[in-house]
Amino acid sequence: MATTTVDTNAIDLAAYVARAVEPSDPSPAVGADEPRDFSPFERVADGRRALSAAVRADERRDLLPTERLADERRDLPSPEHLAVVPRDERTVDLAGARAAVAALLTALGRDTGSEHLADTPRRVADAYVEMLTPRPFTLTTFPNDEGYDELVLVRDVPFHSLCEHHLLPFHGVAHIAYLPGERIVGLSKLARVLEHLARDLQVQERLTQQVADLLDQHLAPRGVGVVLEAEHMCMALRGVGVTGSRTVTSALRGVLREDARSRAEFLALVGVGTGGRHPGT
Ligand SMILES: [Zn+2]
Repeated sequence: MATTTVDTNAIDLAAYVARAVEPSDPSPAVGADEPRDFSPFERVADGRRALSAAVRADERRDLLPTERLADERRDLPSPEHLAVVPRDERTVDLAGARAAVAALLTALGRDTGSEHLADTPRRVADAYVEMLTPRPFTLTTFPNDEGYDELVLVRDVPFHSLCEHHLLPFHGVAHIAYLPGERIVGLSKLARVLEHLARDLQVQERLTQQVADLLDQHLAPRGVGVVLEAEHMCMALRGVGVTGSRTVTSALRGVLREDARSRAEFLALVGVGTGGRHPGT
C-alpha cells in the first residue's frame, strides 16, 4: 500500500484520452444514466493499478514483466484454426421489423401510403438486419516458426458500427497490434475480427475491448493493443452537432498493458502518447 508506482506512459495515455474526448462530449457512451462498461479514465486507472501490482510481484520474483507473462502463458493451449461464429442465436422477426419501421414513419407524421415511402419499411428493416448480422469467419493461425517476437501492427483499418443508443453509425479507423507468442495470425484476420464484432449494436469502448479480448483469448499472444478512433453520427447529426470530432478508445492486454516500454512502442507506432511530458509526470 505504501508503494507508489508512477508510470509516465500511463499518464500520457490518460492525458491523450482526456484531450481526445471533449469535456462537453454528450456521447451516450459516457451518459450518466445509460449503461456503459467503463470510461477511458477508469480503464487507465485500472491499468495503472494492475501495473503497480505487476511491478511489486516482479520485485519479489526478480523477473521482468515480459518474462513473467511469457512464463504464465506457457501452459495456455495453442489454438490453430478457430471458427468465429455469431455470438448467440438472436432471432430476427423481419416482418415485425418492417411493421415497426412503418409504425415509426406513421408516428413521425409520414404517409407510408405514398409511392416514395411504400417500400421504405422493407429497405430499412433489411438494412438493419444486414448491419447487425456478424459474418462468420475462421481465425487462421500459424506456428511462429521464425520466433518473431516484435510487434505486429495493422494501422488504419477502416470500420463502421452502430451506436446502440441512437441506432446511428459511428465510423473511423482501428489500429490493431499483437506481440506474437507461439502462433501468428493472418494479417487480414485482424481486420476480420473487428468487422465481425462491429456488426452489432455497440458502444466504442466495448467494441475496443471485445477486439482485444478475442485476440487475447484465441491467439494467446504475449500482448495485444487496440486503438479505435471514430466519429459518431449521433454527435455529428444531432444534439451538439459537432462534425469532425473523434473519440479515441484503447484496450491493452498482456505485455502491452504491463510493460511500459512495450506499451510506449505500441502507442508511438500508432501515434498516441508522443506528445511529450505533461504536468505532474
Ligand atoms: Zn449514439
